[in-house]
Amino acid sequence: MCGIVGYSGKGDAYLSVYKGLCRLEYRGYDSAGIAYPEKGDFVIIKDKGRVSSVLDRDFKCGSGTVIGHTRWATHGTPSAENAHPHRVGSVCIVHNGIIENYASLREMLTEKGYTFLSQTDTEVACALISMYYDLLHDPIKALAVAARLFTGSFALCIIFKEYPERIYALRKESPLLIVPSDGFTVICSDLTVPDFDFDSYYIPESGEIAVLDNGKTEFYDFSGKNIEKMAVSGSFKGDVHVSAGYGSYMEKEIYQQPQVLYKLFSESEEKYEKIKKLFYNVNAVHMIACGTAYHAALTASGFFERVSGIPAYCHLASEFRYGEFIPDDNGMNIVISQSGETADTIAAMRYLQKNGRKVIGVVNVPSSTVDREADLTLLTEAGPEFAVASTKAFTAQVALLMRVAFFISRDSKKPGQYLSTLVKTVKDAVFNALENSEYIYNVASVMSRNSDSFYIGRRTDYALACEGSLKLKEITYIHSEALAAGELKHGTLSLINDGTPVIAIITEETVKDKTASNLEEVMARGGEVFCIAREKDMPDCVKPGNRVILPDIPFPTTVFTASAVLQLIALKSAVLLGRDVDKPRNLAKSVTVE
Ligand code: GLU
Repeated sequence: MCGIVGYSGKGDAYLSVYKGLCRLEYRGYDSAGIAYPEKGDFVIIKDKGRVSSVLDRDFKCGSGTVIGHTRWATHGTPSAENAHPHRVGSVCIVHNGIIENYASLREMLTEKGYTFLSQTDTEVACALISMYYDLLHDPIKALAVAARLFTGSFALCIIFKEYPERIYALRKESPLLIVPSDGFTVICSDLTVPDFDFDSYYIPESGEIAVLDNGKTEFYDFSGKNIEKMAVSGSFKGDVHVSAGYGSYMEKEIYQQPQVLYKLFSESEEKYEKIKKLFYNVNAVHMIACGTAYHAALTASGFFERVSGIPAYCHLASEFRYGEFIPDDNGMNIVISQSGETADTIAAMRYLQKNGRKVIGVVNVPSSTVDREADLTLLTEAGPEFAVASTKAFTAQVALLMRVAFFISRDSKKPGQYLSTLVKTVKDAVFNALENSEYIYNVASVMSRNSDSFYIGRRTDYALACEGSLKLKEITYIHSEALAAGELKHGTLSLINDGTPVIAIITEETVKDKTASNLEEVMARGGEVFCIAREKDMPDCVKPGNRVILPDIPFPTTVFTASAVLQLIALKSAVLLGRDVDKPRNLAKSVTVE
């Protein structure tokens, strides 16, 4: 995960890198650091902690070459020693990813006399590059030889003492992008870093070495040959980072949903036309994802089957990739990832492609790995999401999957009915649901006072329960479980004590009576029950103060109103507990490790 920023230009690059690190902090935030060349040596400032506590915003370094890093520890605890940058001899590096064979490399280097100050795989990579640099006296040759010996995933930015104006870079799998500008060049983990407008950028590929030298970038292959590389063009706006008017990015992103969803449901079918080229006679749909994106698949799948008449199966990417199941030729495969960089999801996609299957990628971040490698990409276009806990990207994924179902439906009448209701109602309904804050606050205050909680629902509502429960866990650190409502009595009911909060979700009339019975069972054992439902679906047993009433709009709009309410319950509970809502402990936004 982690964020990398590098700046090569004239003047003092410190502030640009500092600001870039702050923008990337959502990717990892247990440690931070920067390095720059000075008087034939390096200056390194690094420690555990957030960017603003490790680095002084007003510092001046006087160097136009600076590399920086925010870490999400994989090897070794967050500490000053393990924080990046690392240096060995004439080489200083920052790293995103995992060098899988670091233990054997470390052993080999130790035998050769190298000693290590940290527990990281990164310092080992640095030592290997340093060893070859001392042997070959050529940065590109040294990087090429070392890179061929690394296994795993990595994005590296490297500075060499003897070349203080240059940043060298290489990557395999982990993201790294290069944005050239007038007289300077920025290298970064994602495009949220540049605070200036730009119209093109480079994506170094595996097997390529990039050299940034002020405003110039050159590329070499691993044999040291200079290669021509095309920039990716488009129009990119800097400065997307504003949470003004909201308590957090998460809050802002929750409130952006009415607009995001309206756009997804009201846009033309054109974007979906490409599906026809890839899949004919679809006999099954396989949705593959991790975490919240998996819950999006689960949430959409029941409705998907109902509308399209085609069975839809959800798979956890981290499991799927190690299985032996390959959908047949008529299976439509969809991988879903907010960042498009989720390592397990990428691996599942590649596994399918290696076996000759086509894959649709559903992603929010254009030019991400899934976007680039999928046979067809459908962008959720929810706009940048900075809070670690995904909200608008989740509902956008559900909406987009629904639109795929409409597009491939075997029943020509159904999609039209649903789509026109969604277009007409979704914006106001989600907005109105979020306005129900008094009742939402009531649930949150009970949740924040308990150490355990349960979410229940049936069918689509079970999927929503999974997501609501995950959201709560992520940002409040309260233990929470989600259950298909009918499963409670098969074991988990034993955990219900006096006052244990249980939240039921009912978005559809068909399941309301059965879910209501399950709530009675909870109450009989002393549990405190809450319910999120339209007034007409609300079980009588739920106390008036524990009812969160959704706007009276039909299913599937209720999927989106209930989602927004669940997100707000988690958010308000976390705020009551004084948690860092946007950057919960131990997590990071794009999960680029396996
Ligand atoms: N594996 C490296 C470490 O643990 C890099 C982790 C990251 O991507 O932040 O330091």
